[in-house]
Amino acid sequence: MRRPDLPEDVSLFLITVDTLRWDAPGFMGSERDVTPNLDALVAGGTIYDRAYALGSYTGQAIPPLLTGRYASELHRNNRHETKVSDRETFAAELVCGPKVKCGAVLSHFLFDRQFGWSQGFHDWIMAPSSPPEQMSRDLKYNSHSVAAKAIEWLSKPENTEGRFWFWTHFMDPHKEYIEHPGFRRFGDDRRDMYDHEVLFTDHHIGEMLARFRELPAAGRTVVIVTADHGEAFNEHGRWCHGKELWEEIIRVPLAVVGPGVAAKRIARQTSQIDLFATILDLFGVKAPEGIHGRSLVPEWVEGQELPERPVIADQPRNPYYETRRAFIKDGWKLHDLPDTGTHRLYRITEDYERGDSLVESEPEAFARIKEAYDLFVATELEPLPALDYGGDYRSMPPPQGARRDRRP
Ligand SMILES: [Zn+2]
Repeated sequence: MRRPDLPEDVSLFLITVDTLRWDAPGFMGSERDVTPNLDALVAGGTIYDRAYALGSYTGQAIPPLLTGRYASELHRNNRHETKVSDRETFAAELVCGPKVKCGAVLSHFLFDRQFGWSQGFHDWIMAPSSPPEQMSRDLKYNSHSVAAKAIEWLSKPENTEGRFWFWTHFMDPHKEYIEHPGFRRFGDDRRDMYDHEVLFTDHHIGEMLARFRELPAAGRTVVIVTADHGEAFNEHGRWCHGKELWEEIIRVPLAVVGPGVAAKRIARQTSQIDLFATILDLFGVKAPEGIHGRSLVPEWVEGQELPERPVIADQPRNPYYETRRAFIKDGWKLHDLPDTGTHRLYRITEDYERGDSLVESEPEAFARIKEAYDLFVATELEPLPALDYGGDYRSMPPPQGARRDRRP
């Protein structure tokens, strides 16, 4: 397969937006014009129409994205705030070094260095929030300070004159949805206020992109835009995210733009598990043996498309959530609920998980997809490993229901 004409010194700008569900940006179909800056950015790029996050919330979505390993495979603690062992190899550890400068600007306590996600990065910058005293209820906002810290990093010539990987994570679409004076409002319901937050976030992304575009390096930099997970608005009797792996919670936008990247849309289902191999490929780093995922770089060329693969989203049990897995193949989606020994089956391309599970009414499809899922688990996933860097997931205490919905 021919590779895009990537510059030899190609760099990467990764922009992730927390809780940005798949249909929120204009480039994914929203008609509210809440992402004019992201829309303009990706207009000339490759857009993935059916991209999936790796988990239901930040702590089980971002570490897998950075390591190419599903959440249940990671050596980690058993807390909602996921601490990842330094036994895990993060993409930045393979990419960053004297020839590639790596910086990240983060926006939430979950990213604090103590949790180990910063492995490999030279600069790991936590953006302050306003107002800090309201952190406990998430009544904070910080897109302005993420953008300011990003502009500061981008403006230091020593960061971008050579190859670099720069990553910014914006947080504000996350609940609580709060009002930002001076920004357009769409109404008072939760989706209206969420879209208002997306608009606010996009505005500050636009300010950051304006500075980025002035850099000499902009012309040799690939920009990837995506989210860590989506957001539910009561489609399945649930708000926010975490806990379940419904489409609204795990489907995310994914777009790529840059030198050599074609303007096209890819309809095939795609998992963020591929981003690990993709990032390594961009920097010419050979992927370790036996990793999940594959580089998406070859299909950024016009006329190329990779074959479909099953998609899996993984939610190992934590103190607040039960174990869940979702397996998507051939237009079917299987939910595995091992804590109760039950499954759900949907034909997602047609019914978007509406109505009753088809486990009983479509026994042949259920048997076929379940068999493929069992094979995938047996052959692709490492056996459920260490918690607290030892022990076994079966020894974990049951989830505490009372606080489940209160967590980020
Ligand atoms: Zn998140």
